[in-house]
Amino acid sequence: RDSYASDSSDSVISTGSETESQIYKVVLLGEHGVGKSSLARVFGGVEDAGHDCDEAGNTYDRSMVVDDEDASIVLYDIWEQDNSQWLKDQCMRMGDAYIIVYSVTDKASFEKASELRIQLRRARQSENIPIILVGNKSDLVRSREVSVDEGSACAVVFDCKFIETSASLHHNVQDLFEGIVRQIRLRKDSKEE
Ligand code: GDP
Ligand code: MG
Repeated sequence: RDSYASDSSDSVISTGSETESQIYKVVLLGEHGVGKSSLARVFGGVEDAGHDCDEAGNTYDRSMVVDDEDASIVLYDIWEQDNSQWLKDQCMRMGDAYIIVYSVTDKASFEKASELRIQLRRARQSENIPIILVGNKSDLVRSREVSVDEGSACAVVFDCKFIETSASLHHNVQDLFEGIVRQIRLRKDSKEE
């Protein structure tokens, strides 16, 4: 190999992510209509606002640099792909981390989020999986039904992180995914000690 002779860093860049950094599987959970697919599209860089392509399910790959370290995420937006129990069980088992989404304009979706948190805990009992509770649609100020305080109090009870986002305004979406990466790293580090 002539890697010493070559001064080009191209090969390093193109192979780096698949060799060294681990790929984290992140699963979106939450009631229909809360904005899971919208958040996933912002994450995936799909600039097709206006169109709500409400297709079955999608996954999005992305590498991002968080705290000067490379991280690869595969984001699964498949929770509503079909109604089979098999898929729900699969989702509960497969994730390295979870994003539980509700809409701040929909109290029922907030209650559903708690339910999902409980189900997740049951499915992965002994594991300390990173979870972020997300109150989406923070831009819809006048139709808000869930306050920031209620959201963060719920996150405290359920021992997970909390953030409010607006997929429409792209507000806090980047922070959300950086937060997920940091949490996964934290849990991983504490496991290895
Ligand atoms: P999903 O069923 O959870 O995948 O939700 P979608 O991503 O399909 O979003 C449901 C609807 O809410 C769509 O009409 C979106 O355009 C809208 N929506 C999603 N996120 C936001 C947001 O942050 N703000 C506002 N105002 N609307 C949103
Ligand atoms: Mg969807």
